[in-house]
Amino acid sequence: MGLEEKLPSGILLTSVEKLVNWTRKSSLWPATFGLACCAIEMMTTGGPRYDLGRFGMEVFRASPRQADLMIVAGRVSNKMAPVLRQIYDQMPEPRWVLAMGVCSSSGGMFNNYAIVQGVDHVVPVDMYLPGCPPRPEMLIDAILKLHAKIMDEPLGPKRAALAAEQGKHTELVASSVRYAPNKESKPSTAAGKSEIIEARKKQ
Ligand code: SF4
Repeated sequence: MGLEEKLPSGILLTSVEKLVNWTRKSSLWPATFGLACCAIEMMTTGGPRYDLGRFGMEVFRASPRQADLMIVAGRVSNKMAPVLRQIYDQMPEPRWVLAMGVCSSSGGMFNNYAIVQGVDHVVPVDMYLPGCPPRPEMLIDAILKLHAKIMDEPLGPKRAALAAEQGKHTELVASSVRYAPNKESKPSTAAGKSEIIEARKKQ
């Protein structure tokens, strides 16, 4: 059945907000980004059996600049956190984050020094998906819930105000600023290194 048969004849009225949100949720492009075992389930979801193409999402983008959904599929190590944040920073607004699996949502069974205890310490999360690993059906369910959330979002400055109201506690600082190397402890040039060695000798 085509769309024409479902729509009533005549004039169709809607709000700009609803129309924009409908187009946004109908063409979410995920970033190609998998961290651990959950990524296998994410890849399966993109395959022909589950077919993310039904939601206009089959194109996992190789560049974050062309993606608006980050599916954090797997545990996030402390070493990977700055990379994850950089990818997030490179994604254009509006963008959404889905924490897939218990590891990315809360650290899961990896309660140790190496794993970030929830990716919301690094980026603001819009949807949490529990499970280890969540099945493709569960990922699709989370994506559909995210679609519903996107349909309810206001536009522009109202969206920013809503995010602040919701207490998204991750500050949006560009990774180039946040993770800029400390020149004193990590000199990037040979000249800088020798200066520091000389300074240490004098101490
Ligand atoms: S939630 Fe389970 S499947 Fe997913 S990354 Fe953690 S251990 Fe692997």
